[in-house]
Amino acid sequence: MKKFKAESQRLLELMINSIYTNKEIFLRELISNASDALDKLHFISLTDSTAARDFEIKIELDKKERTIAVIDNGVGMNEKELEENLGTIANSGTFKFKAENKTDEELIGQFGVGFYASFMVADKVTVTSKKFGENEAHKWESCGSDGYTVSPAERSECGITVLLHLKPDTEDEHTDEYLSEWRISELVKKYSDYIRYPITMLCTSERKKEGSDEYEEIKEVKTLNSRLPIWKRNKNEVSKEDYMAFYRSKYFDMTEPLHYFAASTEGALTYNALIYVPGKAPYDYYTSDYKRGLSLYANGVLIMEKCEDLLPDYFGFLRGIVDSSDLSLNISREMLQKDRQLKALAAGISKRIISEFTKLMTSDRETYEKIFLEYGASIKFGVYESFGAKKDELKDIILFRSSASDKLTSLNEYVSRMREEQKEIYYAAGRSLESIERMPQVEGAKAKGYEVLYLTDQIDEFVMKVLGEYNGKKISPVGVASQEVKDDSLKDMLAFMTESLGDKVKDVRLNADIGNYPACLTAEGELSLEMERILNAMPANKGIKATRILEINPAHPIIEKAKVLFEGDKDELKKLTEILYDEALLLAGLEVSDSANFVLKINEMIK
Ligand code: ADP
Ligand code: MG
Repeated sequence: MKKFKAESQRLLELMINSIYTNKEIFLRELISNASDALDKLHFISLTDSTAARDFEIKIELDKKERTIAVIDNGVGMNEKELEENLGTIANSGTFKFKAENKTDEELIGQFGVGFYASFMVADKVTVTSKKFGENEAHKWESCGSDGYTVSPAERSECGITVLLHLKPDTEDEHTDEYLSEWRISELVKKYSDYIRYPITMLCTSERKKEGSDEYEEIKEVKTLNSRLPIWKRNKNEVSKEDYMAFYRSKYFDMTEPLHYFAASTEGALTYNALIYVPGKAPYDYYTSDYKRGLSLYANGVLIMEKCEDLLPDYFGFLRGIVDSSDLSLNISREMLQKDRQLKALAAGISKRIISEFTKLMTSDRETYEKIFLEYGASIKFGVYESFGAKKDELKDIILFRSSASDKLTSLNEYVSRMREEQKEIYYAAGRSLESIERMPQVEGAKAKGYEVLYLTDQIDEFVMKVLGEYNGKKISPVGVASQEVKDDSLKDMLAFMTESLGDKVKDVRLNADIGNYPACLTAEGELSLEMERILNAMPANKGIKATRILEINPAHPIIEKAKVLFEGDKDELKKLTEILYDEALLLAGLEVSDSANFVLKINEMIK
C-alpha cells in the first residue's frame, strides 16, 4: 500500500468526512474529467487516425453491488500517471487558496475538488485504466486516506473506468439515491447537460405489450445530455420561442422577458453569453436579500449557479449564462489566475450589455424605455456609485423626463435640442412631475425656450452632481438660469426682509425669471432643497440643511406693496415677508413649519 502525499491526504480526509450538502457534485467532477480525457484523445486523433473512435462517456449502475461506474474511452493513464495524478494533488492551487480564503463548503460547491470528490459518496474507489498507445492496463484502488494500491489489470480499449462503491445508506447519509436511474439522469441534466460528448446509460422503462394490457420492462441505452447548449447554437437557427422556452424552464419565470440577446467573442477571451432582461424586477431586487449573478459554465460544465463577480451591482437585474472555454483547464487548480480571467470576462460582458442597450435605444426605443422604467434606478445608481467611476460608460444609457415632451430623453438628445445661446443643461428636482412643473424657476426657464430635465427619482439629483457635465456642457439646477437683478433702490428693503426671516434664509434677492410667481426658494451651494428633503428622510441624516435664498420677482405687483410698507409699516412688511417665504416653501414641495399660523397671517392680510 502506498501513502498519499501529505496535501492529498488532507483533502481526501476533508472529502471523506464531508458534511457538505451537495455531495451530488461528485458526478459532475468525474464526467468533466472524462470529457477532458476525450478532448485530449480527440486532439491526438487530428493527426493520428488510430486515435479516432466514437468518443463517449458511459454510466453504469449496479443496484445489487451498490456501485456506479463512469467509463470513458479517452486518453487514459499508465501506471506512472495513475500514481502522479491520483496519488497527489500536484501543486494544487485550489487547496492553497482554500487555506487563505474560503470555507470547505464554498470550496467544494464553487470550484469542485476533482477526482477526490468521489470519496464524499464512496468508501472504495477502483480505477481501471489503459493509456492510448500502450498495451498494459492498470488498476488503482483506495479505501480512503490510508493509501492506495496500483496493480496490473485487464482492459480492452484505452480509457478509464472509475468504479465507486457507495457508502452504506444511513439516516444521515443517503447514498441509495445515486443508484436511481432517474436521479442520475437528473444530475447529468443539471450539471453536465452541455458536455459535448454523449453521456449514455442503460435505462429501464415500461411499455404496454402489444395486444395485451400487460406491461413489459424494456431496457435501452439513452443519451442523457443535450450536448449543444442553446447559447452555443447558431443564432439564426434558434427561434425566439426557443429562447423564451429556455428562459421559462431555467428561471421558472412565466413573465416574458423584456429583452434577450446572445453574445459571443473570439480572441483573447472566448465566451458565449445569453442574457435576459426579466419582465419584472424581483420583489426583493432592491433589498440585500436579492442574489444577483450569471451562471458560469466552463466549456458547458456548470461551475457556479450565480456568479456575482460577473455582473456589476447596477446590472444585477439581468439573468443569464456565460460559458467560457478559457476557464476549463484551470478552473479547479489555478484559482488566482482564474480570478484574473473572471475579471476580464466580467469587463467584457459589461461592455457588451452597454452596447446592447445603446443599440436598443435607437432600434427599439419602446423596449428600452420599458427596461429603463423598470430598472433605470439601478442603472442610475451605477453612475452615482464609487464616486462616478463608471459614469462615462453609463451616461449615455440613462433617461429622464423633461419639459420638451412626455417622452423620456437621454442627455445626448437633450443637447441636440439645446438653443444656440443656451450654455448649460438645466434640471429641476422634486417629488412629482406636477410639483416640478409648478416650480417658479421652471416656468422662468421655459419662458425663455430652455428645456428642463425633470428629476423625480431620489437618486437623480445625486447622479447629476456626480456627472457635473455632459460632453462639455455643465449640468446645473434650473435656478441658475435666472437673472439676478441688482436694484440699489431696493437694497435696504431686501436687507430688512432678510433680517426679518432670521436664520431661515441666508439672503433675500431679486430674480426676474420666475414667471408669474411673487417669490421662490433656491439653495446656494452643493446641497439642494430636494436633496435636503431626501437626506432628512434617512434617520442618520436628520437636521441637514441647505443654504436657502428667498428670491423675489421684481415685476410682481406685490413688490409695490412691499415698497409702501417699507416706508410706512415695517411690522406689516415683516408679516408679508413671512408669507412669501412660506409660499415659496410650498412651491418647492416643502412643508411650512406652522400651517395654522400661515393661514392666520394670510387671513389678516386679505381682510
Ligand atoms: P483536475 O481535473 O482539475 O486536473 P482531478 O482531481 O479531477 O483534477 O484529476 C486529476 C488528474 O487525473 C487530471 O488532471 C487527469 O490528469 C487525471 N484524470 C482524472 N480523470 C481522468 C480520466 N477519466 N482520464 C484520464 N485522466 C484522468
Ligand atoms: Mg477534474
